[in-house]
Amino acid sequence: MQAVLAASRAHRFGEIEVPVTIARALERMGYVQPTEVQSRAIPPLRSGRDLIGQAQTGTGKTAAFGIPMVEKIDPAQHHVQALVLTPTRELCVQVTDEIARLGAFRNVVPVAIYGGSSMEKQIAGLRRGAHLVVGTPGRVLDLVRRGELRLDRVHTVILDEADRMLDMGFIVDVETILARCPRQRQTALFSATMPYAILRICDRFMDRDAEQVSVRPEVRTVDTLRQLVYYVAEQDKVRALIELTEEFGFDRLLVFRHTQIGVDRLAATLKRRGKNVAALHGGLSQRERAGTLASFKAGKIQFLVATNVASRGLDITDLPYVVNYDLPEDADTYVHRVGRTGRAGKEGTAITFVGEWDLDAWDAIKALVGGEIEEGELRLYGPV
Ligand code: AMP
Repeated sequence: MQAVLAASRAHRFGEIEVPVTIARALERMGYVQPTEVQSRAIPPLRSGRDLIGQAQTGTGKTAAFGIPMVEKIDPAQHHVQALVLTPTRELCVQVTDEIARLGAFRNVVPVAIYGGSSMEKQIAGLRRGAHLVVGTPGRVLDLVRRGELRLDRVHTVILDEADRMLDMGFIVDVETILARCPRQRQTALFSATMPYAILRICDRFMDRDAEQVSVRPEVRTVDTLRQLVYYVAEQDKVRALIELTEEFGFDRLLVFRHTQIGVDRLAATLKRRGKNVAALHGGLSQRERAGTLASFKAGKIQFLVATNVASRGLDITDLPYVVNYDLPEDADTYVHRVGRTGRAGKEGTAITFVGEWDLDAWDAIKALVGGEIEEGELRLYGPV
């Protein structure tokens, strides 16, 4: 009787009912209440509808598509049933981890497939009967063409950060992959922005009555993110960073620059000043990037200086501060960068340096970004 009662008791994730296997996973992950995108996307996805989600990293979108996807996988069927396409290796690994955690009590086995890493291992994972693939488009297509990855029994396809895949030139690969999946399938697309090329993909590859969910970043920005701007000349930026380090006592700081050379130079300058610093950009090998990121997450590195490569999709939780050392090129990049802090309800501060050449560009960004932006003051003392 007791057992029957226990089995019939609904497990809840806020207002969403979940099976016991998912409830146990969520409990272990520390997720108690669904985020907005989860509340709004899980019910339609569960009912089998296609979905277009305007939501960026930091909103909880991975679990929003991950929970219904994991529920739908039949663990007894050892073939690929679902496919998630991501723009970068970092996001691919991160999404795979999250899905593995969500599916841990259902024995759902994902495999991560991305370029710049051993193909043999990935093929072995597929041959062992992985249930779902999370991959970057180039490598996925490569393995499809080699006959190692079969898409003919895929019932769910997720396009994660679709605008980013577009930016990186993957869109033809994405279309080719979609064309190779069964017509009878569920498709969900997540994108921070909805440029024309993305709308066209929705039009060509998704149901006309796809559910549309838009989670505005401003909501989160206002709640948990403090935005600060400092007007500082290019030549004073190093000094400004040091001064702010003293003022805020950054114990872990992500600093953004435009270019790889800029990243390397700033990292070298901070190192000369005795700081514990590492650089992260696309010029480093996958292994170096993964190692650096792991050390930063583990708190072994104080300053991580990075290009935009690091700004999207990186799941660095508990990051209280981010500094835009160079002004982001547009409002979208600004929102993505500052989205590394103040995530999932935690407090965060995003600091932006506006140099003498950036005033117009900054006005344009400010006009598009929601939330209050405070102006900070510097003393700028001491040697450069
Ligand atoms: P995502 O947008 O999927 O990258 O998720 C952003 C961050 O929020 C990640 O660190 C997740 O682990 C975390 N997260 C996602 N959903 C929840 C939730 N319901 N409760 C608490 N944290 C969550």
